Amino acid sequence: MSFSADVITLFPDLFPGPLGASVLGRGMQDGRWHLSTTQLRDFAEDKHRSVDDTPSGGGAGMVLRPDILAKAIDHVSPQGDTRPRLVMSPRGVPLDQARVRRLAAGPGVVIVCGRFEGIDQRVIDARGLEEVSIGDYVLAGGEVAAMVLLEAVVRLLPGVLGTAESHAEESFEDGLLEYPQYTRPQAFEGHAIPAVLTSGDHARIARWRRAEAEALTRKRRPDLIGPSQD
Ligand code: SAM
Repeated sequence: MSFSADVITLFPDLFPGPLGASVLGRGMQDGRWHLSTTQLRDFAEDKHRSVDDTPSGGGAGMVLRPDILAKAIDHVSPQGDTRPRLVMSPRGVPLDQARVRRLAAGPGVVIVCGRFEGIDQRVIDARGLEEVSIGDYVLAGGEVAAMVLLEAVVRLLPGVLGTAESHAEESFEDGLLEYPQYTRPQAFEGHAIPAVLTSGDHARIARWRRAEAEALTRKRRPDLIGPSQD
């Protein structure tokens, strides 16, 4: 069975967007993954198709109603569905490559995209929604965040990336940022490609890349390595 993603959103027309392009789009056409969007308003009960209401306790903005969202979730993810249910949220657990790998190894995902001030806590609890953040900033809605998550996951699915675009040596795969990359021409604005990379000595090249990756990670993201041993 291929990886199956269901997205609940007020803006289904935004999808597939970038998820339909290039290798991800080809992967979808080849049946390696499946994307389905559900319009939350289809589960509203009034003639205005409203899905939100004012926050209890006061304050600005609107909150997505739990009853309507619960109906949408139950529709796309009935009992027995083993896919994790995620809700994109700036207060969620920050997304990282390890989580992305775990999701890619599973049957798929159900993703709720928030809008407005947020989502009634009771539906988050009652439907076991896992809050996931894509970073410490606030977007207008969860759709772009859902696309970020899906793009990261889908490119890891078997057969989606060609061998030319392998991910084995990429940033985070070995816990480090990736070493610097070079290609022809040999000289660019007076700068040569580091000689080791054209030496043909593969063991030396591997050592150089590892050292560069460690140095870059220590400089930019020391949190990924832990305290320096120096
Ligand atoms: N009032 C919320 C708060 O302060 O946490 C922010 C709501 S935001 C304007 C609307 C929706 O955008 C959220 O419900 C969520 O789905 C999405 N969103 C915003 N920033 C996000 C982020 N960094 N990661 C994931 N989703 C985000």
